[in-house]
Amino acid sequence: ADDLLRVAELVRSVPDYPQPGVLFRDITPVLAHGESFATVTTELAANAGEADLVVGVEARGFLLGAAVALVAGVGTVPVRKAGKLPAVAASRSYDLEYGSATLELPAGVVEPGTRVYVVDDVLATGGTAAAACALLADAGAEVVGFGTLLELAALNGRAKLGDLRIDALLNA
Ligand code: IMP
Repeated sequence: ADDLLRVAELVRSVPDYPQPGVLFRDITPVLAHGESFATVTTELAANAGEADLVVGVEARGFLLGAAVALVAGVGTVPVRKAGKLPAVAASRSYDLEYGSATLELPAGVVEPGTRVYVVDDVLATGGTAAAACALLADAGAEVVGFGTLLELAALNGRAKLGDLRIDALLNA
């Protein structure tokens, strides 16, 4: 618990980013601090127990997801923003506050029936996590849980994830 207190202290709040009125939570200092990086990785990996694969969501989800996968002893696959992959297995668009975004799953790396643990740094409105889970469902995978460093509970992103198990190490 002391370890997580330290992690919480390292999350930096940046007012008016990326636009006025938004309080952005910057987890970069957590990743930069070796013990805290190990703490979050170990905690999330413990929750990834029954998974065959960890999927990280671009971009900070790549950093966490790869570390979690290594500790859990499984592989990792990136879910990417549109237009970055040479071959795409599935694509999902979702609404943002202003505009929309598209996430893509790479072709040929997620077999049907794979049990997947999805990782991202922050759960905000839930649109990103829901799109990542939908992509994996499109590919025939079974999403067994979603793990995140920080849940912004007031935005109720959980509501978009149905009854999926959510592991959030911190709440803000
Ligand atoms: P959502 O789709 O609204 O849940 O937003 C989650 C996605 O946006 C994640 O990929 C996060 O990396 C990013 N995000 C949203 N809000 C924040 C924040 O305050 N700090 C860091 N990342 C955020």
